[in-house]
Amino acid sequence: KKKYLIIGGVAGGAGTAARLRRRDENAQIIMFERGEYISYANCGLPYYAGNVITERSRLFVMTPDKFMESLRVEARILSEVVAIDREAKTIHVKDLKRNTEYDERYDVLILSPGASPVKPPIPGIEHPAIMSLRSVSDIDSIKDKIDSPATKRAVVVGGGFIGLEMAENLKERGLQVSVVEALDQVMNIIDYDLASEVQQHLRAKGINLFLKDGVASFEHHGSLVSVRLQSETLIDADLIILSIGVRPDTAFLKDSGIALAKNGAIKVDEFFTTNDQAIRAVGDAIVFDSPLSKSPVTIPLAGPANKQARLCADNIVDGNKKPYTGSIGTSIAKIFDLTVASTGLTEKGLKAAGLPYRCAITHTGNHAGYYPNVRQLSLKVLYHPETGKIWGGQSVGYGGVDKRIDIISAFIGKEGTVYDLAEFEQAYAPPFSSAKDPINMVGFIAVNVLEGMSDTISWDEAEQARKNGAFMLDVRSEEEFELGAIEGAVNIPNTDLRDRLKEVPKDRDIILNCAIGLRGYFAERILRQNGFTRVKNLTGGFKTYDNAI
Ligand code: FAD
Repeated sequence: KKKYLIIGGVAGGAGTAARLRRRDENAQIIMFERGEYISYANCGLPYYAGNVITERSRLFVMTPDKFMESLRVEARILSEVVAIDREAKTIHVKDLKRNTEYDERYDVLILSPGASPVKPPIPGIEHPAIMSLRSVSDIDSIKDKIDSPATKRAVVVGGGFIGLEMAENLKERGLQVSVVEALDQVMNIIDYDLASEVQQHLRAKGINLFLKDGVASFEHHGSLVSVRLQSETLIDADLIILSIGVRPDTAFLKDSGIALAKNGAIKVDEFFTTNDQAIRAVGDAIVFDSPLSKSPVTIPLAGPANKQARLCADNIVDGNKKPYTGSIGTSIAKIFDLTVASTGLTEKGLKAAGLPYRCAITHTGNHAGYYPNVRQLSLKVLYHPETGKIWGGQSVGYGGVDKRIDIISAFIGKEGTVYDLAEFEQAYAPPFSSAKDPINMVGFIAVNVLEGMSDTISWDEAEQARKNGAFMLDVRSEEEFELGAIEGAVNIPNTDLRDRLKEVPKDRDIILNCAIGLRGYFAERILRQNGFTRVKNLTGGFKTYDNAI
């Protein structure tokens, strides 16, 4: 009879426990959780704060009693594992309720301690109004604070998905909300050009957004805190949510001899085995090689944690038969009315990894334009400039974003190319899609480039070209042009272009733009077939350029 001990009782830990039991009815399985609760919905916590989820009990997927009853797994809560003796194969546990300590022996030990919110040494960071969000206990404290009538102003530090989900929910609860982000954009899972749409939306929803402005210090005035930014701006707040990222919660492994990466993440092989054959690890606390960049990554997301748990248990029972192929970081968030999603590598990530890429952007309807309630969907795909292999995709819009990103994620998982996107057969009827889905459209753009029909240019390259004296040719209608255009651009509507070719210089670089890239492509084909060779079409058109600039 095997004895499995598991450290961490939420996504990775509880998932491994459940699968182990389904695979091995006779084993003894004990799960240790430092906190008060196991198997709860971390991802639902912001919505509980916003009263979208009204019943607290719905946050709990399992309780220790249910775990015992349904799985015969003993879940020991308020039990912190403080050390591991690998030679003796024991863990040292602190019982936080009884204030006692003891050792427990294992045959196999599984680590899923997760990641904890980063708390940098900013002056004044220790104050009861400055809170982070990881657990149910955290959200209980945050909710108490929101419920207090004295709480009127909140500052969210960090514009990632947890920060923005909290900002939305705090706003829905009637608070004045500021978001402070040190980078020049929110939602680092997408690139700057798409993030600017999110930023506009946040501002339109009444969020005070501070970009490129980190927190310099927190100044205490009783229960009130003034947040001083690097720009010297002062924001008064009754509640501050710190959400500037997470770090593997592995301090207790420091002296264990288990190999850790620089960021504290646990190094595992493709079967989740650490450098000790009897110890495995899953979830937010592990590091593995990205299937795309091949560099080590830590991906703190619930989907991968749950799937790793299942595979890890199978590999324990079957003896390493199912290698993990890694995670590409597919993720999504609702930001007020917008959906923001991403999969694979971003342009920033590709640049940092030194990988060659091109990008295609489209802004199209989420379904047929003639069917009611069509909303714009922005979709960006990054691909290898020669093979067309998809590196990543990102999307922002009001509907259908999840579907498009999941499709791209599936293709990346199967090493798909932009040719696959162009050929992808979608389920189509006007309320759901178009005969040419946005996925197809973005695939067509990329395939046209790969096949030499078109040459695209990104907004930042186009801006550089403009500064270097390129001929900026705007092929939208006169009415559209008058509402705003790229500085110095000349307007020749694409329908007039054939008759006005003389106005286009042959000896200069020509950068075409329309609203979203489509008419620019039509114009490009006219120019190319009339002997113009130095032509590029601005991908994503004026919409992308105007958002980003
Ligand atoms: P965790 O779920 O963090 O569990 C680890 C547990 O181990 C913790 O409960 C901790 O108390 C315990 N522990 C740590 N050290 C010890 C020790 N020494 N002894 C005993 N116990 C210990 N992901 C998504 O994909 N989508 C989302 O929408 C999403 N929303 C989120 C919203 C919030 C507010 C938060 C905080 C996270 C969100 N996540 C989301 C991330 C997701 O929750 C994590 O990826 C997932 O929970 C990771 O599972 P895990 O088992 O690795 O770690």
